[in-house]
Amino acid sequence: MKEILLCKYGEIILKGANRRTFEDVLCKTLRFRAKHFGKFEITRSQSTIVIEPLDDAADVDGMFETTCRVFGIVGVCRCAVCEKNMESIERTVRSYIPQFLTGKKTFKVEAKRSDKRFPLGSPQIAAEVGGMILSEAPHLRVNVREPDVTVHVEIRERGAYIHAGQCKGAGGMPVGTNGRAMLLLSGGIDSPVAGYMIAKRGVTLEAVHFESFPYTSERAREKVFELARILARYAGSFNLHVVSLTHIQEELVKNCEEDYFTLILRRYMMAIADRLAGANDCGGLVTGESLGQVASQTMQAIGVTDPLANRPVFRPCIGLDKEEIIQIARRIGTFETSIQPYEDCCTVFTPRHPRTRPEIEKVIEQQNRLPFAELVEEAIGTDQVSRIRAEF
Ligand code: ATP
Ligand code: MG
Repeated sequence: MKEILLCKYGEIILKGANRRTFEDVLCKTLRFRAKHFGKFEITRSQSTIVIEPLDDAADVDGMFETTCRVFGIVGVCRCAVCEKNMESIERTVRSYIPQFLTGKKTFKVEAKRSDKRFPLGSPQIAAEVGGMILSEAPHLRVNVREPDVTVHVEIRERGAYIHAGQCKGAGGMPVGTNGRAMLLLSGGIDSPVAGYMIAKRGVTLEAVHFESFPYTSERAREKVFELARILARYAGSFNLHVVSLTHIQEELVKNCEEDYFTLILRRYMMAIADRLAGANDCGGLVTGESLGQVASQTMQAIGVTDPLANRPVFRPCIGLDKEEIIQIARRIGTFETSIQPYEDCCTVFTPRHPRTRPEIEKVIEQQNRLPFAELVEEAIGTDQVSRIRAEF
């Protein structure tokens, strides 16, 4: 039996005149992913994207899973396709639908006929198919208000589609429809989640990771690459910059008061990320900060780092509790990698008493003990860019 996928999109529908562009981006993304799973045809039909395997070798399961990770799609149905006549429809319902009815008590049938040439009306189709299911599975009852399962029969242009409800899609907007931003990606729990959330709003990612080799290890770097690959399953392929802060940190430790290490380091990070953002056409920066989570994320501390950016800094986790961030990290699959215990450059020279209410004058006085602009320039010179290829 032939199975196809029907994708419903959400917010795109609100986009009026731009809708076409959004749909085009979505279809392009799906076509690109489909290449990894065999031969598929992807078409638009009546506010739905239809994904159809073109031969038996096409991996519909794989395509289904990847489609559920594409931003812009709110629901994905797997459905059986058959010829547009009642005999063939009933035969297909009999063989395809039982898997969705096991353990269920109630159901209803909903029919939709967009091909008006089909001889029966929607209520008649629903009544016939419902009657047949009841005779096959007498333990079931019809409940039109709150059924456990809804069996859908859709008579469309290219055939009759039969399915039993949709799986939740990733939601949001198609990546590529809302600009580009530079994610500050650490090896922690929060920044991969922040990257996921901003990509979900249609933003194309670029990322920068700061390391402090040899104080941070090869394995710490590999962990960040692994997180980036997981993120790319949703956000699509992107560039990851790795920048060395080793010299800056060594100078900081030699010249500045310990209480200010983290704050000044974060100012360097912001300045460097902002420069890279400018050079790579990014309209914003993204961090995983959550208000008050640690000393460097109090309002005052954020106030001390924020002014170094010449573009908006997006902090999608700002209002989330750690527990809520962890929930998302688990769902998207980054959590297990994030909790591997490798050092981060922020944790190698951590002050014992970091300032939680820094005064900007004091921070600048400390920062001026080092040639800020020169060190930023030098760090940018260490930038190594890798393409993170999505494994869909
Ligand atoms: P995370 O779990 O994302 O590491 P965190 O709670 O450990 O966050 P911080 O270490 O204060 O918080 O970092 C705050 C934000 O700064 C991070 O979410 C990330 O966006 C950025 N950041 C921190 N360390 C690095 C790094 N080594 N490379 C790139 N960005 C970093
Ligand atoms: Mg961190």
